[in-house]
Amino acid sequence: MQFDGADKTATAIVWFRSDLRLADNAALWAASEHASLVPVYVRALASQSRPLGGAGNWWLNGSLARLSESLSSLGSPLVLASGDPFLVLCTLADQTGASAVYWNRRHDPEHMEADALVKSRLIESGLVVRSFPGQLLHEPTRLKTGSGGSYRVYTPFWRALEAQGYPPPPLPAPAKATAPKAELLSEALADWALHPTRPDWSNGLSATWTPGEAGAQSRLASFVLTGIRNYAEGRDVPSVENTSRLSPHLAHGEITPRQILHALAAAQTEGSERDRTVFRKEIGWREFSWHLLVNQPKLAQENHNPRFDTFPWRADDAALAAWQKGETGYPIVDAGMRQLWQTGWMHNRVRMIVASFLSKHLLIDWRQGEAWFWDTLVDADAASNPAGWQWVAGSGADAAPYFRIFNPVLQGEKFDPDGTYVRTFVPELSTMPASFIHKPWEAPDKILIASGTRLGKTYPNPIVQHRAARDRALSAYSKIKDAA
Ligand code: FAD
Repeated sequence: MQFDGADKTATAIVWFRSDLRLADNAALWAASEHASLVPVYVRALASQSRPLGGAGNWWLNGSLARLSESLSSLGSPLVLASGDPFLVLCTLADQTGASAVYWNRRHDPEHMEADALVKSRLIESGLVVRSFPGQLLHEPTRLKTGSGGSYRVYTPFWRALEAQGYPPPPLPAPAKATAPKAELLSEALADWALHPTRPDWSNGLSATWTPGEAGAQSRLASFVLTGIRNYAEGRDVPSVENTSRLSPHLAHGEITPRQILHALAAAQTEGSERDRTVFRKEIGWREFSWHLLVNQPKLAQENHNPRFDTFPWRADDAALAAWQKGETGYPIVDAGMRQLWQTGWMHNRVRMIVASFLSKHLLIDWRQGEAWFWDTLVDADAASNPAGWQWVAGSGADAAPYFRIFNPVLQGEKFDPDGTYVRTFVPELSTMPASFIHKPWEAPDKILIASGTRLGKTYPNPIVQHRAARDRALSAYSKIKDAA
């Protein structure tokens, strides 16, 4: 494939952002047709309103290290720079004689605005700027309802996305690139201090994940061969690895959704047609979340449904801290929150349970949960995170009805029937029999003694009673239900 307009004698800069990969990278592919290539990653400034959280930074550190190695092998090392992207790009263009700057588009409104400004300033400075799609299957500003509006309900959105047809095949990685003659100074990744120190809390993350494009491809390969088998049912069982765990790789742009869909279609997979369809629809939820964010830039700050603006949220720092630490006394909630803390990731079913518990049982504003997830998730995503929270809290587009309040005991018994998931992340309950593992407070004394559980000492008593908390949540909802 050739990109029209590439000047084969000139130098092009590729500005990497949330697309830390070589394959299926349209900007890199197009720029590699030039005589020489300058890849650059510009560290976001403190003025950016929502910097990555701790877990996201840990991932970024690993991902940039891998990208840097890959680009060096390709022939053109990555330049790391901090500062105003426009000034960094202009300086690099001066140093290398580059005539063009290429990038893949970002879709969060804050970056879209910033990119538009950088683009116009670069063009004014005499540079050619070309931007490309790549992080999504669709351009979120282009998909419109029949009446020209944006979608607020998932199913018609999904149908419209499917109607666009199968995405074109992914691009290969360029075979080689040439660095410009000018010697370029790069900042040292270690100086960016993205990796936590004092304390280094990242052992559980390193044991679980391999950031970088190769790590993404290896997860994809094993998922399409075997992980997809029984996905439609198994995706709800948190103790089995029946989901792809590609979310952090997608969040950092180490892999694209079309690479995933093409790999799935090409593989002799063990999954059924239903497994594949359900999986594609989950990729569709990611697309839908981005569509929502583009059309509601303050998705992480404002209720999608303004009726929730007067919702009587409670301020309760002690309950919030218990939830964050996984000490609520509800084993499935605590297991999820500890999985998040230890590994930087949480199973989707359990995300729904813990989000429901915070926003309904504890009546704590979903924004506080969203912020905690933003800081602790390796897959923290500007669209899927607030969309997920608003969906569970009831304030979101196409949201779960507010009155559907998850019972954490029944959810645990249904999706973790033998308690394997709870035992993994709440070891103090590891010898509790399955019949009581999701409600240890109902266990008779002899079982508590036999399992070494002293409620209130080795494991907390429930911080709220389910029935009373449910009634309180429904009463809070009744105050806003009839508002216009
Ligand atoms: P798989 O089941 O293998 O799905 C494949 C891909 O589809 C995922 O990697 C993801 O990109 C996408 N996907 C799956 N489910 C959803 C969904 N419900 N919404 C949007 N995309 C989806 N996902 C994030 O990527 N980042 C977040 O910050 C995030 N925050 C969430 C917060 C809450 C409260 C909830 C309920 C969900 C959130 N999700 C988020 C969605 C979902 O939980 C994760 O995408 C999923 O658990 C990732 O695991 P996986 O890659 O194994 O998923």
